[in-house]
Amino acid sequence: KCNDNGKCALVCPTNAITPAKANENLDPEAGSKFEIKDQPDSVKDYAQGNDKKTIRAQAAPIAGGDVWSGVWVIIEYSNGKIAPVSWELLGEGRKLADAIGCGLCGVIAGNQVDSVIPEAFAHGAEKVYVIDDPILQDYRTEPYAEAITNVVKKYQPEIILMGATSMGRDVFPAIATRLQTGLTADCTVLGIDPETKLLQQTRPAFGGNIMATILCRTSRPQMATVRPRVMAMPERVEGRVGEIIREEIAFEESDFHTKVLEFINMDAKSAFLDKAEIIVAVGLGLAAKRNLVIAEELAEVLGATIAGTRGAVEAGWLNHDQQVGQSGVTVRPKVYIAIGISGAIQHLVGMETSDFIIAINNDPEAAILKVANYGIVGDLFQVVPAMTAEFKKRLQ
Ligand code: FAD
Repeated sequence: KCNDNGKCALVCPTNAITPAKANENLDPEAGSKFEIKDQPDSVKDYAQGNDKKTIRAQAAPIAGGDVWSGVWVIIEYSNGKIAPVSWELLGEGRKLADAIGCGLCGVIAGNQVDSVIPEAFAHGAEKVYVIDDPILQDYRTEPYAEAITNVVKKYQPEIILMGATSMGRDVFPAIATRLQTGLTADCTVLGIDPETKLLQQTRPAFGGNIMATILCRTSRPQMATVRPRVMAMPERVEGRVGEIIREEIAFEESDFHTKVLEFINMDAKSAFLDKAEIIVAVGLGLAAKRNLVIAEELAEVLGATIAGTRGAVEAGWLNHDQQVGQSGVTVRPKVYIAIGISGAIQHLVGMETSDFIIAINNDPEAAILKVANYGIVGDLFQVVPAMTAEFKKRLQ
């Protein structure tokens, strides 16, 4: 519906839209108004098949000659709870900071957040930036994005990480847009290129068929989100201390359009799938919803949480928040029991870092058996009830 009058840019709350007319690179004569006439050199390099080294050597300087340094982790604190992925990212951030040779800092935004500060140090932050204000009592996109963006602009970290939680998925794109930089969502691997010191952000792409490593070469900071439980939890060192830097906010309540009226909690059973220690997961091999009882009986004996594949969710056997995988939840339990699951890549990316995987499948070629610590080739209708009976005997 855009008629090029710029109205869409005016109403976009995150200033993410640039009208075509305002951009010299856009060719109004081309078939699409948004076709780019002059490709940046890096794109031409790729198109012409130049090797990686050439592209690296031509990496553009960062705008304005600014010095961007340090690895930051945004520590998610909401409704009095810290998202544990924040600590996982401090653990991962430590490795990145060591590879670059820079510092590791945490950022805490919220209201009355002092109790979080020692935890940030205990999990590895050397410095913590604190933005503590009643306006940040309840999470809202605009004030959080504004507060974090301002601190990032002031101190210019090279890399910022956040959990791919509901909050991270919401606020990080808004921050990236304000900073006019790139963001890779849902990374499964992070690393530092030893030559260029760029952040290598790896994530599944094209429906999980390839793993793409994405670089943010010409703008800063480099931003990435990582799902909970993808990275290992670092060791917590009680009593570790560091520097605290308190930042004031430069806005008022009247600057924002939204207000939190009420919080309605989700069904606790499925909301904590990513924290479950034992998971019994089902796939289409179960054949019908009525057979779910076989898995539920096993879960009952083990004190496990029920989850499943997208197939099981689409069949209406489970809710969407019980889906494990690329378009569901990433889990990292101590034990993952996969019943009648083929092991499609989109499922594997959500569970393959589980500590111990047991898979039951009647197809000896099923991909799930390749990632399993114990693979049981057999009919689930015989194997699972036998397992339940045996566990019952041993655990009583
Ligand atoms: P199937 O692939 O049909 O496997 C059933 C298995 O049960 C088979 O291996 C079969 O040998 C076995 N079996 C059958 N009968 C028995 C028996 N009696 N005893 C023992 N074993 C038996 N999938 C996810 O799970 N999570 C995601 O987040 C996800 N996201 C996706 C995103 C995209 C963009 C796309 C394209 C797909 C996504 N998928 C996802 C779907 C994924 O590709 C697979 O289709 C899905 O995981 C298959 O589910 P399944 O293993 O239950 O079913």
